[in-house]
Amino acid sequence: MKFTVKSRGDDFSNTLQQRILQYLLDFGLSHDEKEPEMVITVGGDGTFLQAFHEYCNRLEDTAFVGIHTGHLGFYADWVPDEVEKLVIHIAKTPYQIVEYPLLEVVIRTNNEEIPPERHLALNECTIKSLDGSLVSNVEIKGDTFEVFRGDGLCISTPSGSTAYNKALGGAILHPSLASIQIAEMASINNRVYRTVGSPLVLPQHHTCLLKPMNDKEVQVTIDHFTLSHSRVKSIQCRVAEEKIRFARFRPFPFWKRVKESFIGG
Ligand code: NAD
Repeated sequence: MKFTVKSRGDDFSNTLQQRILQYLLDFGLSHDEKEPEMVITVGGDGTFLQAFHEYCNRLEDTAFVGIHTGHLGFYADWVPDEVEKLVIHIAKTPYQIVEYPLLEVVIRTNNEEIPPERHLALNECTIKSLDGSLVSNVEIKGDTFEVFRGDGLCISTPSGSTAYNKALGGAILHPSLASIQIAEMASINNRVYRTVGSPLVLPQHHTCLLKPMNDKEVQVTIDHFTLSHSRVKSIQCRVAEEKIRFARFRPFPFWKRVKESFIGG
């Protein structure tokens, strides 16, 4: 099997990265940074997000596993003390694959000469205005739902629902629900302006189309990446056809991870 190990870059993560690399080579696996079948990350959720984006063009052929060298991560859920155990699992046991849904984002501009940009997000896409409030038409399944005015909107995946979405008061969704969630950032609500005010969860076959209305430059984020865009015509969000594949060697149920991360022992 071909594998690669990605590190956050600090001394501890780099040392662990080299140990894992050597162990797996000793077991006869081959190191292939270009076309790995397994990507092991050492660091935190940020390292995992970066690795996901590095290999998101070959998701069907890649399985991911994350080790955290800081606090428990949502994607990085193995601890450094378990590395030997994990390496033996990777080298010797057939592993189970668990798939989580992703968000597809297509950005179109008013300039017809610029082709639409397609992105995949593991956590979320956010849209904010770079100058004053964001004013955006929100269409769901082809119909105008509302005109949003406020700081911005966050469209998250189920596994991203515990990240930025949670800080915005969104619900935590189990990743077996192929869906996306729209959460508001400080909407303006008074007698003139009105939004629904609650997070919305859309199923797989529903598309959300955001159309910024005041021709201002908007800031779009995809996970940890920030993209600035002028003259955005629309941002189309829906559940992607692709999924991320996790290599699972032991049960670590989602709700247990939620409890350990947010409630503790
Ligand atoms: P970062 O290093 O500042 O990480 C932010 C925190 O989010 C870390 O503690 C990380 O463990 C946690 N995190 C990431 N994905 C998670 C998930 N799916 N569930 C629970 N926690 C998760 O920034 P980064 O490494 O560049 O990560 C980018 C992510 O940061 C974005 O995808 C966004 O979700 C998150 N973020 C959160 C807020 C907020 O909560 N107010 C604001 C901006 C960005």
